Amino acid sequence: MSVMTPPGVKNSGDYIEDVMSIVKAKNAAEPEFHQAVQEVFDSLRLVLQKHPEYRSSKILERITEPERVIMFRVPWFDDQGNVQINRGFRIEMNSAIGPYKGGLRFHPSVNLGILKFLAFEQVFKNSLTTLPMGGGKGGSDFDPKGKSDNEVMRFCQSFMTELQRHIGPDTDVPAGDIGVGGREIGFMFGQYKRLRNEFTGVLTGKGLGWGGSLIRPEATGYGCVYFAEEMLKSRKESFQGKLCLVSGSGNVSQYTVEKLLDLGAKPLTFSDSDGVVYDPDGIDREKLAWVMELKNVRRGRIREYGEKFKKAIFMPTDIKLEHNPLWNIKADCAFPSATQNEIRAKDAANLINNGCKLVAEGANMPSTLEATKMFLEAKVLYGPAKAANAGGVATSGLEMAQNSARLSWTREEVDDRLHKIMIAIHKNCFETAEKYGTPGNLVNGANIGGFLKVANAMLDQGLV
Ligand code: NAP
Repeated sequence: MSVMTPPGVKNSGDYIEDVMSIVKAKNAAEPEFHQAVQEVFDSLRLVLQKHPEYRSSKILERITEPERVIMFRVPWFDDQGNVQINRGFRIEMNSAIGPYKGGLRFHPSVNLGILKFLAFEQVFKNSLTTLPMGGGKGGSDFDPKGKSDNEVMRFCQSFMTELQRHIGPDTDVPAGDIGVGGREIGFMFGQYKRLRNEFTGVLTGKGLGWGGSLIRPEATGYGCVYFAEEMLKSRKESFQGKLCLVSGSGNVSQYTVEKLLDLGAKPLTFSDSDGVVYDPDGIDREKLAWVMELKNVRRGRIREYGEKFKKAIFMPTDIKLEHNPLWNIKADCAFPSATQNEIRAKDAANLINNGCKLVAEGANMPSTLEATKMFLEAKVLYGPAKAANAGGVATSGLEMAQNSARLSWTREEVDDRLHKIMIAIHKNCFETAEKYGTPGNLVNGANIGGFLKVANAMLDQGLV
C-alpha cells in the first residue's frame, strides 16, 4: 500500500524511511520529536518484517499523529500587577490502551516539539508498565524559578481554568514533570475541584492527605535504580561500592541518590542549569537531606553545596564546551536525571573511556542518537528512558487505582509493587531484545515491547 507523500517529499520505497520523511515534513522545526520517532522506528524494522499488517493499517503514520493537540493562552497577574502571558499545551497522543497519562512540564524551553517528543515516548513507556494507560504530555513555557508562591498559584489557576475542559479521571490524567512538583499539583488540583465541583483522581502526584500515593515522589528515582539493579544482575554484579554519577538535583535525582545509598553505592555528583558539584567523599544521607532542603524548601542553587561542603568542587556551566564535565568524572555508573540531550557524543566517549559500565536514564531522552549508538556499540549496559524511568508513571497508575478504590496502600505495599513492575519491565525488554535477534539491546527491547501492545490495540479498535 502506498504512503501519502506531502509535496516536496521523495518516496524511497522503504516504508520506515518514507514515514520518517513525512513526519519531518509535517512537523518541521520539531527536532526533538524527529529524534524520538527515529529512535523507535530504527527498532521497529525488526517487527515490520514479521508483521505486514502494521504497514497495511498504516500504524506508523497513525502512531506519530497525536489524537489531539490543545494549545492555549494563559494570562496571569504578577506580584507587581503586570499582565503576563504564557502558552499552555496538552498533547493527547494515544489512548489505545487507556486514558491519556503523562506529566506537565513548566520550563521556558517548552514548545510544541518538545512536548510531542515527550508524549510520543510516553505512549511506549506507559505500555511497558503493564498498566492500562495511554500517552500524553503537556505544560507551559512558564518559568517557576524566581516566582513567588502567589505568582505560581495565579499561573496554575489560570492554566487549569482552560485545561479542565479537556481532562478527567477517565479521559486524561496529568502528573508532574520538570518545574511541576507537589506545590504546583496542589494549586492545579484546587482549581480543578473548584471549577468542576468534583473531588476525583484527575491529577497524580497529589499530597498524601488528599488522594496522593505514598512512594509517588520517590518512584521515578527508586524505579530507575531498581531497573539498573536488574541490568547489573544480568552480568552478575551489584551496586555495592559502585561510584555513580547523577545529573540534575530535582525530584528524580534526589531519589536516585537515596536508593543508590540504600544499595551500597557511592553517588558523587549533582547538578543544575548553573553547574555541577562533584563530591569525591561521596554524597551521604546527611548531605542528601541538606540538598533536599536546599532544592525543595529554599529553592536554592546547587552551587551552594560547594560552599557548604568544603571538599566538594563546583564547576559552573560553560555553554561553549562541547561536553559536560560531569560525564568526565571516573565512575562505574551514570544516571542522567536532568533533561533531554544532556549526554552528547563527546560525553558518551568520556564515559566509555573512563570505564563506565552502566547508563540508566532517569531523564527523558537524555542521550542523543549518536551517544545511544556509542553506548550500544561499546556494550555498556544501557537502560533507555522509556523503560528505566517508567517507575514514576507506573506509581501514578497505582495512585489512580487507589483513588478509584477510595483507599490507600501502605508505603511497603506501593514500593513492593513498584519494585515488581521494574523487574517485569526489565524482563520484558531483555527477553524482547533476544527474541528479535539483538540480545542485550534494551533500546530495541523497550521500543518493540512498548509498541506491540499499543499497535495491537489500535488494530483491534479499528480506524479511529
Ligand atoms: P525537576 O524536579 O524540575 O528537576 C529538574 C532538574 O534538572 C533540576 O536540577 C534542573 O536544574 C535540571 N534541568 C532542567 N532543565 C535543564 C536544562 N535545560 N539544563 C540543565 N539542567 C536542567 O524535574 P524532575 O521531575 O526531576 O525531571 C527530571 C527529568 O526526569 C526530566 O527529563 C523529566 O522529564 C524526567 N522524568 C521525570 C519524572 C517524574 O516523575 N518527575 C518521571 C519520568 C521522567 P534547574 O533547576 O537549574 O533548572
